[in-house]
Amino acid sequence: MTVAQASRRESAIRYVKGVGPRRAAQLLQLGIETVEDACYYPPRRYEDRTRLSSIREAAPGAWTTIRGRILARSLRRLPKGHTLFELAVGDVSGVLYAKWFNQAYLAQQWHVGDEMILYGQVEPGTRAQMMHPEMERVEQEAADRGVGLHMGRIVPIYSLVGGMSQRWLRQILATVLERYADEVSEWLPEDVRAAHGWPGLARALRELHFPTSWEALEAAKQRLAFQELFMLQLVLAQRRAKVAAIAKPRRYDLDGPLIEGLRRQLPFSLTASQQRVVAELCEDLRHPYPMQRLLQGDVGCGKTVVVAWLMAIAVQSGYQVALMAPTELLAEQHARVVGQWLGPLGVSVGMLTQGVPAAERAQRLTDLAQGRLQVVIGTHALIQRSVTFQRLALVVIDEQHKFGVLQRARLAQKAEAPDVLVLTATPIPRTLALSLYGDLAISTITELPPGRRPVTTRWMREAQRQHVYAMVREQIIQGRQGYVVYPLVEERAAQGKGLKAATQMAGQLQREMFSDVRVGLLHGQMKPAKKEQVMREFARGAIHLLVSTVIVEVGLDIPNATIMVIEHPERFGLAQLHQLRGRIGRGSHPATCIALSETREQAAVARLSAFLNTTDGFALAEQDLKQRGPGYLLGRQQHGWWRLRIADMARDHELLELGRQEAMTLVDRDPHLQHPSLGELRDRLAQFRRQAA
Ligand code: ADP
Ligand code: MG
Repeated sequence: MTVAQASRRESAIRYVKGVGPRRAAQLLQLGIETVEDACYYPPRRYEDRTRLSSIREAAPGAWTTIRGRILARSLRRLPKGHTLFELAVGDVSGVLYAKWFNQAYLAQQWHVGDEMILYGQVEPGTRAQMMHPEMERVEQEAADRGVGLHMGRIVPIYSLVGGMSQRWLRQILATVLERYADEVSEWLPEDVRAAHGWPGLARALRELHFPTSWEALEAAKQRLAFQELFMLQLVLAQRRAKVAAIAKPRRYDLDGPLIEGLRRQLPFSLTASQQRVVAELCEDLRHPYPMQRLLQGDVGCGKTVVVAWLMAIAVQSGYQVALMAPTELLAEQHARVVGQWLGPLGVSVGMLTQGVPAAERAQRLTDLAQGRLQVVIGTHALIQRSVTFQRLALVVIDEQHKFGVLQRARLAQKAEAPDVLVLTATPIPRTLALSLYGDLAISTITELPPGRRPVTTRWMREAQRQHVYAMVREQIIQGRQGYVVYPLVEERAAQGKGLKAATQMAGQLQREMFSDVRVGLLHGQMKPAKKEQVMREFARGAIHLLVSTVIVEVGLDIPNATIMVIEHPERFGLAQLHQLRGRIGRGSHPATCIALSETREQAAVARLSAFLNTTDGFALAEQDLKQRGPGYLLGRQQHGWWRLRIADMARDHELLELGRQEAMTLVDRDPHLQHPSLGELRDRLAQFRRQAA
């Protein structure tokens, strides 16, 4: 590709004929800044205007496109300042009535005699009628185009911003394609493109906007979706190849005395699934290059013990280990559990968090630097510059989705080519896993420890609140413990309110229903030391009922807790609800989760129903992906660099696998893409990396 071509592709949309500064600002709202952005702006849907229905044939309930002329119109004022604009539109077969509430400005735009296209759902009833249909003006098209843009073909319908019309945007996109499409050069490797019978890039872009047939459209969409996923996977495959080329300066002793000791020390034996995963991890340790692995498994499946196993291996081989967790509470819990297992075997395990007092902290830093502290467990306090190690070999990151890429990298930089294991209990669909963690090997714990019973989940209403409390009480009387959770979505925005609600509720419960037991309060704004104290008391059973905000979400393991009440569950995604529910049902007693909600909002009802009906985190994550898209599932930190324009993570499983396969094959064959035919691809990849950065 020439420089001239690259710069034209990236040239600003505002210089395209018919755009200008004001329109350019509107286009920017649609994410269109360059002519290339315009080429990849996909239609929201298409209308087949080669065969429009006649009004007489339009079936009630069906989404229908009609073409007709305005026969009559009226604008009526309704009570309370409302308005109703009504058109009678006729074609040769009959008359259709279209109505719009509170859009009086339409009266300035539409007049008797205007010809229009209407798209909407025909209402049941004796006369043909549509409420709030989409509409578009029909005008005599410039004859010089040969084939019409807006009529007599499969026509693209785009998402717009206010003040923009379909016709205008369609015209601009047609201009852009006409001027630039032939200049975009093919960059998919030819053998890949040909093997799948996909159209070339220029042709695919044309078909995306102005399909010549439904089949051609489908092939174009496939190709364009594939190329996005392929690019993504190429970056990941190269990253992986880079790591595999590094020689790590260490060898592990996989079956030493500490592993023996740990086996005896554990109060249970590993499940088959845990054993398989341990074997996979050992295999990684044995490799001459660093481990880069994601360990996933549903909440409560027992990932911690697998980590302890790896720690034992590292320590008996003479190395240090760092485990980073997203919260003080979780770090504290890990330190307690790991300390219980490895401490008696002579392993030194220490905590390093914000909450550790200064003097102790200084001592730990020295111990770490001199290699006396073998296992350190902490929060992001671990990544501070003052933290140095003597022989750090293994880095473990728990609940890794809570960390940014940078934080993970900073910890890994404290060792030379460390083995890295990241953990997540947020089950994510395979497509997302492959996209986000495609540079990592993935191990999955697929079974829960024996004796677990699935949590029973119930949806109850405000009117049943007293009954709910009675259920909680019943559990506490039997010696169990419970949670009442006020999850906050937008922490900063809702903190005040949620905090108040949780605090008030804790007080009220303590005074009224639960005056004879201990109610504890845990929220995000408490000092770390205070949080730990409450948590410790809850862990040893001194607090019976814990009222808390969202911070119980990740990782906590209190097997005696058997009941959870979730307030306002309708505000949350399935993945998060599932995480919350994962705090109970971790022991051998049956457990109940109660979603207390008054919601009737359709999407929320669907979500809560799914939550009630399944306890499989992966199934719930699939649903979340379909309903809310990847951004919601992943939180703010991790999306952005792979934002997709055409491909859809909820739909394009097969294309993703294909993209991954093709990317790996290519990188295996030619890690630096040096073959002369790949010049265009190298270029594109560089551009992609720049945009991703
Ligand atoms: P998560 O994978 O969610 O981090 P944890 O590691 O906290 O789960 O384990 C959850 C609970 O299951 C802990 O109480 C742990 O001791 C217990 N556990 C883990 N593995 C087994 C096993 N093989 N048999 C019995 N209990 C187990
Ligand atoms: Mg955990």
